Amino acid sequence: MLQLNQLVFRKDNGCNASCKIEMKQRKERQKEKWILCPVCNNKTRLKLRNNTVLKNFPLFCPKCRQETLINAEKWNISIIKV
Ligand SMILES: [Zn+2]
Repeated sequence: MLQLNQLVFRKDNGCNASCKIEMKQRKERQKEKWILCPVCNNKTRLKLRNNTVLKNFPLFCPKCRQETLINAEKWNISIIKV
């Protein structure tokens, strides 16, 4: 883990301006997470942000075509009904 951090750090230092913008965009994107289907564990078409709040949300999975009722807050997803 430490080795990996050092690698990333070294890469950051040799970064030009456009690379820095890309890194910023990547960081922004990390604030979003795909919701995984609780039935088949595949990615759904929905994303959560760190401030997304869902209540009794019918999550439809395009893969297994099941609908699941979920609650979500701060990336914590709880399944109400499968
Ligand atoms: Zn599914």
